[in-house]
Amino acid sequence: MANILIVEDERAINDLLKLNLEMVGHRCVTAFSGREAIHAAAEQGFDLMLLDIMLPDMEGFTVMEKVRDVPTIFLTARGATTDKVRGFGLGADDYIVKPFEVAELLARVQAVLRRTHRAEESYSIGDLTIRFDAHEVFLAGERVDLTPQEFTLLRILIENRNVCLSRQKLLSEAWGIDFLGESRTVDVHIQKLRRKLKLEDHIKTIYKTGYRFEES
Ligand code: CA
Repeated sequence: MANILIVEDERAINDLLKLNLEMVGHRCVTAFSGREAIHAAAEQGFDLMLLDIMLPDMEGFTVMEKVRDVPTIFLTARGATTDKVRGFGLGADDYIVKPFEVAELLARVQAVLRRTHRAEESYSIGDLTIRFDAHEVFLAGERVDLTPQEFTLLRILIENRNVCLSRQKLLSEAWGIDFLGESRTVDVHIQKLRRKLKLEDHIKTIYKTGYRFEES
C-alpha cells in the first residue's frame, strides 16, 4: 500500500484515479490545483504523485519543482515531445497521456513504486503470505515453490486486486510478449496457482474476460 497524491483539476478524472487506486489498496489524497498539491506535500510524505500538467493556477512542472523527493508520474492530455522532455528533465518517473486505460495506469504506478522501492514488500491473506522482494510464498508457514510465471501472475493479480484483468493483459505482463491466441496458457497457470495456494475462493473467473483477485 502506498500513499499517493493525485493532482488533477478535472474532477471526473481525479475521482476515477482515486477510486481505482483505493480499490487496489492505496491511500490517496486529492488536490485540484497546484497550490493545494504543494500544501498537501508540505503536510505529509507521499510515495508517489500523479501530476496533471495543465492546472488552473500553475503548470504541473512548477509543482514538481516545489515538491521534492516524491516520485512523479505526469498525467496529461498533451502528448508533445517537448513536454515529455521537460518532464523527464525535471526527474519525472513516467509520463501518461490522457485518455488512458485504468489497467495501464495501475501497471505504471506499480512499476514506479517497485523501481523506487516504495511498493509493498509483502502481502498476507488467510494462511498465505507473499514476500515480493524475496519472491517467496508461504502457505500455513510452509514454503510453496512457484514458477517465475506463476509468481508474476500472482503478483499482478494482487497488485490489481478487485480489478478484472484480461487474459491478454496477464499474458503480456507475465510473459512479456504478445501471446495472441494462446490465452489458454493463462488459464492453465491460474488453475495451478489456485490449487497450490488454495486460492479457489479468491481468484475469480470473470466470464469471457479474465480474472480478478478478490480479498473477501
Ligand atoms: Ca488539467
